[in-house]
Amino acid sequence: MDQSSLILSLAIGSFVFAGLLYIFQRNKPHEQRIPFWITAKCLQGAGSLCLYFLSPTPPGFPIVAAPLLLTGCAYECWALFAICGHPVSRRTHLWTAGIILVLTLAGAGLDPQWRMVMMPALHAVFYGLPAWALLANQQRELSLRVVLGGCFVLLAAVFAAQSALALCGLAPVAPLDAVVPTAVYVMLLVSGFSLLLLAQQKSDDELELARRSFREQDAQYRFIVDNALEGIVALDKDSRVTFLNRRMAEMVGYPVEEVLGRPYLDFLTEDQFEDAATKLAERSRGLDGVYERCLLRRDGSRKWVQISARAVLDAAGNYAGAFSVITDIDARKKTETALAESNKRLAEQSLMDGLTGIANRRRFDEALAREYRRHARGGAPLSLIFIDIDHFKAFNDCYGHIHGDACLRQVAGVLRQNVTRAGDLVARYGGEEFACILAETDATAAAAMAERLRQAVAALDIPHEASPTACRVTVSCGAATARCLPGGAPLDLLARADGQLYRAKAAGRDQAAAEQCPA
Ligand code: GH3
Ligand code: MG
Ligand code: MG
Repeated sequence: MDQSSLILSLAIGSFVFAGLLYIFQRNKPHEQRIPFWITAKCLQGAGSLCLYFLSPTPPGFPIVAAPLLLTGCAYECWALFAICGHPVSRRTHLWTAGIILVLTLAGAGLDPQWRMVMMPALHAVFYGLPAWALLANQQRELSLRVVLGGCFVLLAAVFAAQSALALCGLAPVAPLDAVVPTAVYVMLLVSGFSLLLLAQQKSDDELELARRSFREQDAQYRFIVDNALEGIVALDKDSRVTFLNRRMAEMVGYPVEEVLGRPYLDFLTEDQFEDAATKLAERSRGLDGVYERCLLRRDGSRKWVQISARAVLDAAGNYAGAFSVITDIDARKKTETALAESNKRLAEQSLMDGLTGIANRRRFDEALAREYRRHARGGAPLSLIFIDIDHFKAFNDCYGHIHGDACLRQVAGVLRQNVTRAGDLVARYGGEEFACILAETDATAAAAMAERLRQAVAALDIPHEASPTACRVTVSCGAATARCLPGGAPLDLLARADGQLYRAKAAGRDQAAAEQCPA
């Protein structure tokens, strides 16, 4: 093949190579592409074409071909640096391109002999640099890099020799001039193939690196999720468990594998199904939520948790499931429940008489005020009965306070048994005195009830030897009935019932007296 044919095939080869590179890199993400490479080949192809069409070679480099070929060399050099892991900054490459342009333009004005020194010297530099990058600091792919590095060394040597011979004025340097295009041609074949292999290797390495980094990250996330203090659970769109961490498995008391695939409702107590369905419906509308739940554990025990749930939507925005962070609030919840129960007990106790177990005075006052207001609104009559044990001081004196207390309990019990309607209330008003609220009860019914209570206590037949009234414990009852007034108070009703009690006592005790308050 003569020189011009070689140069033409160099041009065609460079363009074909650029095309192959384009195909090779087309589908790769931008960061995986080798920079400058396609441009390098295009510049080299264009330079060779100029050389072929514009000028007889050697000895001269036409003004257009020289900068194209040299910049192509520099670009290929930077591509190789990138492959070897030493990417060149855009600034360096712009500076280099500028210097090449200036030098080649300046070279055009030089004496042909000096031009024949400068141009091969520049080529020697840009073939020597990649050789250095390939052969220095290499750890692996020894053979491939050595072959390619060797090629560049040889090529740099050929150009350096050409430059040196020209410098020594050994003109004509025809033997070397003939070698250069051939050397470049052979170089194109060997280096092109090796470069492709190296680039592929680099790409594989990066892929492996990315995979390893992904695996490491994945392991790290798994570690965090598995060792989290909170439970983590994911559900699919049918509310089946698709993922849970160890903590979550501990909370429900199952091994992880036994939970996967099961419906979420399997781990809730039945009374929560309806609310759970409402919450899941919210998720399916893409809404997040934070709420408390009682988990049903494998051993049948319950555990209170707080659920922070987030809806998961697919790329099209459709509901794909939910994932939740579960916090164990069992201890807090149990404390809260115990506290609430204790408060409730305390509240009840504060309204209950400790000795007899019936309502105390405080509850009586509250209930009377409430019933009075209610009756004022409704207009129905409200009745009140005071019940007082006769000669109870004498009872205590005769039988002792312990028996006195027992007697109070018995009387309270029998009163409670006889006052059973909703809205009615029996309370210990104080000492041996009881009071009874009768809702929506007129004077006749109240008088009947007072008598009934008197008889019920007498029927207990508790001996009372010290009573001048009877040989058993008796009570006197005073009943009053009133029409309640809006904005009024039950003071008159209380006073009148008390008055009736006084009347019953005065009339000889063991009897009931009643009156209807004037409207
Ligand atoms: P009367 O027929 O006029 O009502 O006479 P009485 O003795 O029942 O009335 P008095 O008010 O003189 O005495 C009430 C007595 O009730 C005095 C007190 O010792 C007794 N008492 C009050 N509270 C208790 C109690 O909680 N336990 C006992 N055992 N006795 C009580
Ligand atoms: Mg009394
Ligand atoms: Mg009394």
